[in-house]
Amino acid sequence: MNIIDASPLGHRDAGEDRSQAIRDRLRDAIVDRRLAPGAKLAESEVGALFDVSRTVARAALQMLAFEGLVRIERNRGAYVADPSPDEARQVFAARRVVEPGIVAAICTRISPVDVATLRRHLGEERNHMDRHGPGARRDEIKASGDFHLLLATMSGNAILRRFMEELVARSSLVIALYGRSGASSCGHQEHGGIVDALEKADAEAARTLVLRHIDHIEADLDLRRNAGLALRDALEL
Ligand SMILES: [Zn+2]
Repeated sequence: MNIIDASPLGHRDAGEDRSQAIRDRLRDAIVDRRLAPGAKLAESEVGALFDVSRTVARAALQMLAFEGLVRIERNRGAYVADPSPDEARQVFAARRVVEPGIVAAICTRISPVDVATLRRHLGEERNHMDRHGPGARRDEIKASGDFHLLLATMSGNAILRRFMEELVARSSLVIALYGRSGASSCGHQEHGGIVDALEKADAEAARTLVLRHIDHIEADLDLRRNAGLALRDALEL
């Protein structure tokens, strides 16, 4: 053990790493709907499952609450978020405000390396779409979200990147909850069009395409509560 590991800061970092790892596992389970919307997430149970203290479990749940994937009620505990249709619409309204700014910012600074990174990502998305089954669908939703996070990173604005982390996490939950069966979370073709506009540093075209893309993602949702959704999803397996 070196002196840094032995310091109080080192211990705190280890706990934080553990919390982040638990957050990631829970986030996947929530977005995949292996954990039902509204399900209780007891600190003691999360702590026992991951063999960590309640403090570490609580920190993980608080991170998820910050992203909007968990709801914490005073004196009652944490629950998987169950966004209403109104909240779902607000997520996309927020994306319409933030994402045109992100692509416009990229157009002022995009490099050939960025273009190559984006093209490589499009290739990965295509590979996921060629596969079938629930695992492939999960990977595809993740890769689609990652495209938008990659854009946020390329904007060079760390605050916008953080906004997008929350918006992509919330979008994934909304898509998992309200997405029509079989529908893709993001049109791969549309991502390609956005990359083409970015490569030309055509901010106006990029803004228009990204807005149209968000419209399409939202139009793919069925924002009426559908009692048969779980069964329909189950039958797809
Ligand atoms: Zn997309």
